[in-house]
Amino acid sequence: MSESSSNSGAKNSSWKPNSWRSFPIKHVPEYPDQYALAESEQKLNRYPPLVFAGETRRLKQQLALASQGKAFVLQGGPCAEIFEEFTADIIRDVFRVILQMAIVLTYGAKVPVVKIGRIAGQFAKPRSSDNETKDGVSFMSYRGDIINGIEFSESSRVPDPKRMELAYFQSAGTLNLVRAFANGGYANLNEVHRWNLDFVQRSPLAERYSVLSEKIDETLAFMNACGLTGHNTPQIKETDFYTSHEALLLPYEQALTRIDSTSGEWYDCSAHFLWIGDRTRQPDGAHVEFLRGIKNPIGIKVGPSANIEDLLKLLDILNPENEPGRISLIARMGAGKVKELLPPFVKAVTDSGKVVTWLCDPMHGNTISTSDGVKTRPFDAILSEVMGFFDVMASEGAIPGGVHVEMTGANVTECIGGAHHLTEADLGKRYHTFCDPRLNAEQSLEMAFLVAEELAQ
Ligand code: PEP
Ligand code: MN
Repeated sequence: MSESSSNSGAKNSSWKPNSWRSFPIKHVPEYPDQYALAESEQKLNRYPPLVFAGETRRLKQQLALASQGKAFVLQGGPCAEIFEEFTADIIRDVFRVILQMAIVLTYGAKVPVVKIGRIAGQFAKPRSSDNETKDGVSFMSYRGDIINGIEFSESSRVPDPKRMELAYFQSAGTLNLVRAFANGGYANLNEVHRWNLDFVQRSPLAERYSVLSEKIDETLAFMNACGLTGHNTPQIKETDFYTSHEALLLPYEQALTRIDSTSGEWYDCSAHFLWIGDRTRQPDGAHVEFLRGIKNPIGIKVGPSANIEDLLKLLDILNPENEPGRISLIARMGAGKVKELLPPFVKAVTDSGKVVTWLCDPMHGNTISTSDGVKTRPFDAILSEVMGFFDVMASEGAIPGGVHVEMTGANVTECIGGAHHLTEADLGKRYHTFCDPRLNAEQSLEMAFLVAEELAQ
């Protein structure tokens, strides 16, 4: 059958890595120089894959376990990576904080924590408006470093396909370091726990957090006494770490999509896990068409504008075999709305018999602007959405599979609140994000401790 202009009855329509090109598309810019675009796409198509299908299949199995409550997902990283912040320290710090959070969550949830970074490819951003106007001058909005530059000038804002090549090489470099950290001894549980003790000592809420950290201390000492060390137990000194990003810039994703020689199936080898954003999940749109043909695990953001009919349609299109681990639904309703808006979705999905892994993104529904027009997120709202998500899952008899957060390992001041009581006045000090405000290292760890307390109950 030839390519159809609708994929809602997709079962019979043929899929190809480029079949998305005949579907309506949002949030992907027109490149003015089509010749240069094709050249970059061809180069990327020849470059080695960034991740391997076998790793991606393992992640899918772990996500399937999370859908049954036998694992818990921690997905985290910046809203957007940028070319300027491609340094070992920045990569190390975000990796370290994710591991620190994971050890606490593992203890609280009593199941393995599946660690997925929003890194090594998280460059492309959907924007609320196509153009940005300043002093009467209007250029295309900044859409992430993989597309155009942040500088407000005509030349910087024109989409440049060469940026896709830079993003590829930065992703390769980031992955290389992350793989070395994950397997080279840096991820040793005893070390990670020592960093946590450091954090607890410095926290104004030390007394509260030390309850959990002392229990972890005792458990590690017991394991050590039993002879379980990094020398004989790989799980103590190594970890699995996966990468993810929003599959937004389809020319890039297509170029990295390859047939796996083992299974003969298509995988998008730009990351292990790809998600579809709240603004590009139209069942008849190009993004859904692209994602339905690749075998990676897929996330779907589910915000207040979602509707049940479309969501069930998406599950049919993207997971016709109802394969466990294939789909994660990432709810991002907002703290004030989660208890009202989420239950009908959970009920409808459960009633449909579709297997999904429910994740909570407590960031994107809780963005506010200060009186000075600075975007921020209150720590209390973020925490409250996670707790509301747990409540909804419990009352609907569904499994909370994990959390998805925007965070950094650095000491930025972008989200207000937390134990150090960051205020609006603090935001000017170290507000480094070009996109959404991120939890800083301490706020991220606090969240892990508070969520772990809840999971332990
Ligand atoms: C994001 O995760 O950075 C994002 C843009 O989210 P959403 O699609 O949920 O708005
Ligand atoms: Mn964001």
